[in-house]
This record gives sequence, structure tokens and C-alpha cells, in this order.
Amino acid sequence: MPDNPIPMVDLKAQYTTLRTELEPAIIAALAATQYILGPNVQAFEQEAAEYLGVAHAIGCASGTDALHLALAALGIGPGDEVITTPFTFIATAEAIRYVGAEPVFVDIDPATFNIDPRAVEAAIGPRTRALLPVHLFGQPADMDALARIADARGLQIVEDCAQSFGATMPGGRTGALGAAGAFSFFPSKNLGAFGDGGLVTTGDAATAERIRVLRNHGQTERYHHACIGYNSRLDELQAVVLRHKLPHIEVYNRERRRVAERYDAGLAGAPVQVPHRDGLGTHVFHQYTILTDRREHVAAALRAASIANAIYYPVPLHRQPPFADRAADASLDHAEHVAARCLSLPMYPELDDHQIDRICAVIREALDG
Ligand SMILES: *Cc1c(COP(=O)(O)O)cnc(C)c1O
Repeated sequence: MPDNPIPMVDLKAQYTTLRTELEPAIIAALAATQYILGPNVQAFEQEAAEYLGVAHAIGCASGTDALHLALAALGIGPGDEVITTPFTFIATAEAIRYVGAEPVFVDIDPATFNIDPRAVEAAIGPRTRALLPVHLFGQPADMDALARIADARGLQIVEDCAQSFGATMPGGRTGALGAAGAFSFFPSKNLGAFGDGGLVTTGDAATAERIRVLRNHGQTERYHHACIGYNSRLDELQAVVLRHKLPHIEVYNRERRRVAERYDAGLAGAPVQVPHRDGLGTHVFHQYTILTDRREHVAAALRAASIANAIYYPVPLHRQPPFADRAADASLDHAEHVAARCLSLPMYPELDDHQIDRICAVIREALDG
């Protein structure tokens, strides 16, 4: 009998475990009829702020909007440049364009896949206003080095925490380390809702207030609008889901690290590069991403064994048509090297040892000889 297929993520597992407490809570929120900016949104904002160790957390409609609102609230706009990584999901750089600013792409560290602080420093120019590091695949970027650069040059840091909910550095959790942090609750993220959702964090009360106003049509009091804002609120029902999942995030992230360690052991000695931990912070393994020169071959072997796999990300952003004019910003060789070889394996807290061992065996066999 063939083995069961293994997906990239299994959203059913968390739903099944939580449904007996979650379904009555969702029904209660339906009956309460406070569907927009209701009590669950407020409570979740407080609970998330407390967990993340940050003074203010503001719910919004998506991680993309969280980035957009953070940049807008910090006053980044036309004529400004924001230094970021080309090896990320497009939303990181889309948000920079939404506020009318320009992304400047700099290269990554080929071991961690995160933005290289030395490349950041070399790219700073008279128009640079902010840095936008991504804690890619759940490993915090080198925030100490980036903060030193930002402080010395008077730059703001917006953290893209879409993949790093719960990841820590000695100075605090991601999202509490810059001027603002942007989180996504897209269902497959480490803390996932049952639809879209996002959160902006900041330690600054005035920035928090601007974000609250911007997410709700620029409204300061009912039908009084201080500026042109947006309709970008966290949904009340999604807040119910997030409030029930938040108390489990430490366990979810610990289980992701267990999965990663078993992958490491299972792939030891195979001709692949397993994820490098730089030891600066705690990795929460949104993805477990290997590098291999024989990516197509490995992916085909996994497919034949009904094991899902994915390429995050096949085309760095400076190779995408909307950003083609930024291709010559700097040498982006490491980003290109990694994009051509990366392969992400199934990763979710409930992945069991037998499944991980099966995946490793298929990869080892594919690369044997
Ligand atoms: C998912 C993601 C986003 C966007 O989040 P959405 O909630 O899907 O809008 C932004 N940046 C990164 C790095 C992401 O992985």
C-alpha cells in the first residue's frame, strides 16, 4: 500500500484539536453582532502586545497592509528610499511602492538567507529613510547590526515579521526591535487565522495612534476624518480564532524546531545545505529550506513519493517585472544563487517523526549516486 501523501502544511490538524472550544466562541461572536472592531479584536491586540513585549499592537486586514500602514505611519513617502531584501515574498517591496517610495535591494547572507548588514551599509544614500529587513523563514535578521546602522544614520526600521511570530532575539521578540513590526495571519503562517489578517506593532504611542487612524478611513472620531486612510481592519471572527491559537504558539514553534532538528539529523551527510542557525536569536521555522544543486531531480523524487515541496522563492524581486528597474542596485549574486537552489520541505507542528524520516529517505536516495 502506498504511503499517505504529505502536504506542505496541514491546517486540519490545528482545527481538529481546537474545534470544541473554537466553534462555540465563533458562534458567540456571531450572536454578539459586533462584527467590526469588536471586543475580540481589542482583546487580541492587547494579548498579542503582551506576548510580543511591545507597547502597542494594531490589528489590520493582512500582513501586506501591516507593512503598508507601518511605512505610511512613519511618514515614508515619495522621494524616499527603503533598503530591503530581494529574497522575500513580493508584499515586502509592494508596500514600499504603495507609499510612493522606492525599494533598494541589497544582497543576502547566503547562509541565513537574511539581509546582509554590510550590504545595507554600502547602499545607504541621501534619500535612504528606512530599512525593511525580513525575518525570513522564521529566523530573525541581524537586528543588532541593523539597529547600529539605523541609529548612526537616523533611519527607521520596519520589521517584516510575517514569518516570525514568536521568534526572539536577546533584545526581545521580533516586532519589538524596530520602529514598527508587521505580522501576517495568513492561514499557513506560524500563527494562522481562518482567512486574511495582520497586525502592526510599535513602541511609540504617536505612531500607534496614526496606524489606528489610517486603518479606519482616517477617522479620529465617528465621521470625522483627519486624513485619507484605508479600510483595513482585523476581522472580529478572525480575532476569535487568533485568541484561541495565541496561547499555543510557543508549543507550535517548539514543535517546528523539533521537526527541523529531525530533518537536520536525517539529512546529515547528504549533499544538501540544511538551514543554518546563526545563533543570534530563536528560529521558529516557518519554512525548512534546503539548498541543492539538483533541485529539479529532488523535487521530482519527492513528487513521485506523494511528498509536497515548494520553491520559496524562485525569482528574486529584482528579476520581477515591477522591479526590473532596480536590478542594477547592487550585486545580488547570493540572492540569485539561493533562488536557483532553494527547496522548502513540508513543515508544520504536527509533522511526525515517521513522516520526516520518509521525506529524508527519499531525498537521500535521490541524491545517492
Ligand atoms: C505572507 C507574507 C507577507 C504578506 O502577508 P499577507 O497576510 O499575505 O498579506 C509579507 N511578507 C512576507 C515575508 C510574507 O511571507
